[in-house]
Amino acid sequence: MERTYIMTKPDAYKRGLIGEIITRIENKGYNITDMKMMNLDEAILKEHYAHLADKPFFPEIVEYMTSGPVVGMIVQGDNVVAGMRSIMGPTDGLEAPAGTIRGDYAKDKSENLVHGSDSVENAEIEIKRFFG
Ligand code: UDP
Ligand code: MG
Repeated sequence: MERTYIMTKPDAYKRGLIGEIITRIENKGYNITDMKMMNLDEAILKEHYAHLADKPFFPEIVEYMTSGPVVGMIVQGDNVVAGMRSIMGPTDGLEAPAGTIRGDYAKDKSENLVHGSDSVENAEIEIKRFFG
């Protein structure tokens, strides 16, 4: 069964939207098989966001992602990697369609509430990174 790594971000915690995000995952029919709340540090963010580490806005990502707890989850289901990206919506909350998590709750492309792996291969790497 396919798996993906989903993580609510600190804005979801601050705004009381963790439950809403979990409900949407469950309503879609996926199974959450593991879950934990964590506080991330810069080292793990440099690894997790390696594709962005040399961007000028990377310090802002670190500030945002260390501003409160995240909830990491392993989510399982048929085609769950693509399916979760679909219910999350695109990175930028302004462009994300209504009905998606980001479209309904995020206003821009930085504080966008939730992370989801972008490929089956990266899902397994991210699950190992956060769950060992
Ligand atoms: N991000 C940002 N500004 C950008 C691009 C990305 O602040 O111009 C942040 C945003 O929180 C995003 C994360 O970095 O979710 C990872 O970016 P990626 O391109 O991997 O988007 P995602 O896979 O989260 O949709
Ligand atoms: Mg990404």
